[in-house]
Amino acid sequence: MVYCKYINFINESSWPEVSIEKIIACLKEVLPNNVIDKAEESQLSLNSIDKEKNFSFFNQAIVQDLKKPLPIYDLNYYHSYYSSIEKKMFTPKNKIEFGNLILYDGFFIQKLLQKLIIKHEQELPFSKLNILITDKLLCTFDESDWRYHARSLICGTPTLISTAGIVEGIAKPPDYYYKLYFFKENPDIVDELKKEYNGQFINYNDHRINDIIEGLVLQALFYFINSGEPFCQDRNCRLFNAHFQDDVIRLNIKEKKICQKHKILINKYNHVLFIDNNCTKEAEE
Ligand SMILES: [Zn+2]
Repeated sequence: MVYCKYINFINESSWPEVSIEKIIACLKEVLPNNVIDKAEESQLSLNSIDKEKNFSFFNQAIVQDLKKPLPIYDLNYYHSYYSSIEKKMFTPKNKIEFGNLILYDGFFIQKLLQKLIIKHEQELPFSKLNILITDKLLCTFDESDWRYHARSLICGTPTLISTAGIVEGIAKPPDYYYKLYFFKENPDIVDELKKEYNGQFINYNDHRINDIIEGLVLQALFYFINSGEPFCQDRNCRLFNAHFQDDVIRLNIKEKKICQKHKILINKYNHVLFIDNNCTKEAEE
């Protein structure tokens, strides 16, 4: 168990609906002994990183082809398979799947931020969980189906949460995609579907985003508490790795339940932090 006592939010989302204060207030109920804060300024903000200096890096982090992983992935084992796939490569359907958004490799961006942390703090701190909330559409390459997938959460140091990943990376009802595809010539189809499926999925500038981010933060924390395993098998637990929007809304907004096994782990974690806080207080007195 790794005890991240400090949770630090860096919010660079342009959504006015994202309220770190609300997220912190809700998290405090589950994690009363953590120190949870919001940075007004941070060297980890992707928006404030010197773009000129890091231009080549940002350029490298952009995914050009959904079926072609960036060189950071260790694909030696798959080399021959990869070569044959590459020959058959088809034009990605980015447009229909992700609109005109630029896709960034989440692990690549995480690596850049790790370098910045090490530059300032000499090492990666494990007692402090930095959580960057960005509008950039993050994705990671999945070898099981050999393609990139949009992600809402990249666990680790720092943890990355993508608002666009919540909208695009969690599947909408299947009918939605059929209609989007069959009526793609209709320029108003996206708006029409938005009305038809109103409330059934998290959309851009959705006021429910804070509850979803809160759930993702709990998963990010469990990545450390539970030795690299942020998810739960129980479909009714908030730590369930939901791939569908209706599950994400049910788990994080309607039910907000945590299973017995994870409740025990949280209690244990809270208890250790409680003792640690008291020891610190005594030492100061
Ligand atoms: Zn659970």
